[in-house]
Amino acid sequence: MDPFLSEIVSGPAARLQRRSAKIIYGDKIVVVGGGAPVVVQSMTNTDTADVIGTAIQIKELARAGSELVRITVNNHEAARAVPDIRNQLDKMGIDVPLVGDFHYNGHTLLKEVPECAQALSKYRINPGNVGQGAKRDSQFAQMIEIACEYDKPVRIGVNWGSLDQALLARIMDTNAARSQPWSAQSVMYEALITSAIENAERAEELGLSGDKIILSCKVSGVQDLIAVYRELSARCDYPLHLGLTEAGMGSKGIVASTAALSVLLQQGIGDTIRISLTPEPGGDRCKEIVVAQEILQTMGLRKFTPMVIACPGCGRTTSTVFQELADDIQTFLRDQMPVWKTQYPGVENMNVAVMGCIVNGPGESKHAHIGISLPGTGESPAAPVFIDGQKAMTLRGEHIAQEFQKIVLDYVQRNYAQK
Ligand code: SF4
Repeated sequence: MDPFLSEIVSGPAARLQRRSAKIIYGDKIVVVGGGAPVVVQSMTNTDTADVIGTAIQIKELARAGSELVRITVNNHEAARAVPDIRNQLDKMGIDVPLVGDFHYNGHTLLKEVPECAQALSKYRINPGNVGQGAKRDSQFAQMIEIACEYDKPVRIGVNWGSLDQALLARIMDTNAARSQPWSAQSVMYEALITSAIENAERAEELGLSGDKIILSCKVSGVQDLIAVYRELSARCDYPLHLGLTEAGMGSKGIVASTAALSVLLQQGIGDTIRISLTPEPGGDRCKEIVVAQEILQTMGLRKFTPMVIACPGCGRTTSTVFQELADDIQTFLRDQMPVWKTQYPGVENMNVAVMGCIVNGPGESKHAHIGISLPGTGESPAAPVFIDGQKAMTLRGEHIAQEFQKIVLDYVQRNYAQK
């Protein structure tokens, strides 16, 4: 009997067939959905009224790889600042489309500051806080009418922290009439999904084209997010913005976001992602971009930057040389990418291995485009370098890190320069 019962295959499920939405600024068109690569986006945490501070942070996020940047538009000062921010970005050569985040007073701001409505490339509307009672429908309608007037797409972004209370009450009443009522958790899931889809349908009734609508239903629990998006994805074909809201700080925020998004992306769900990390005090806002890109790249969904494969180190590597070299080379590669991606197309496919000793070092290094196997404790002080699977040279002495960087740069120039 054939012991090999079936071929082992890997990779994410095919992306689900969804509509696509285009977010446009000038010649820049970012496509979300419709099978386009999953888009990475981020949000500023500056005061939007601070034009220079906000423009600088947007530039940093865009240079780090954010393909859309969202800014809060919370009052008239912020709304009036938006066109000035756009002008500053134009002067800096940054064409990333801007998304305006509106709550409570979006209908007023968009109407009273038309330059803001024009300068933004997309509006985020939270149906849970566009207004109360009778005002709710009219204020939502005003925002959609402005989106139609300026031909802008919208994200209908539901969040469990600001769920439409009237809609929740209606769904709770329906649930109470069931012979076997659902759990409170299931009612909350239903309310989130219903809010997103009903508001999307209402926007279409108001005249907004279906290909100008993106949906999100954000929650902060991993299992909650997976359950909600599986169902949301099954019930509609609008493109989906995926993100774990309030993911948290440090490793917890990264791990929780990665766990939730990976499961959904593996199932073909999610057209654009945002990682909602709380920065450490004084921390770098761009970290959320790095995490988003690394999720997509390690899952094989997109390629952004050459990957460094490094062993964890163990008792065989008692010095920090190997950790420093792995860190240096990763930082070097990421820092080069804004220039390399235009000069060296395809360089993002390169793999570099930095290994701590002879046990797995030569083997792993041979699988990479370039690999270095550093000497472990007690091994002779020599570091063989492998290029395209072949041992190319051995480095020795004090300057292994600089020499290795030079070898990597030389490899990039030889293999990826535009013909
Ligand atoms: S390659 Fe060597 S140093 Fe690295 S984890 Fe394995 S045994 Fe330890």
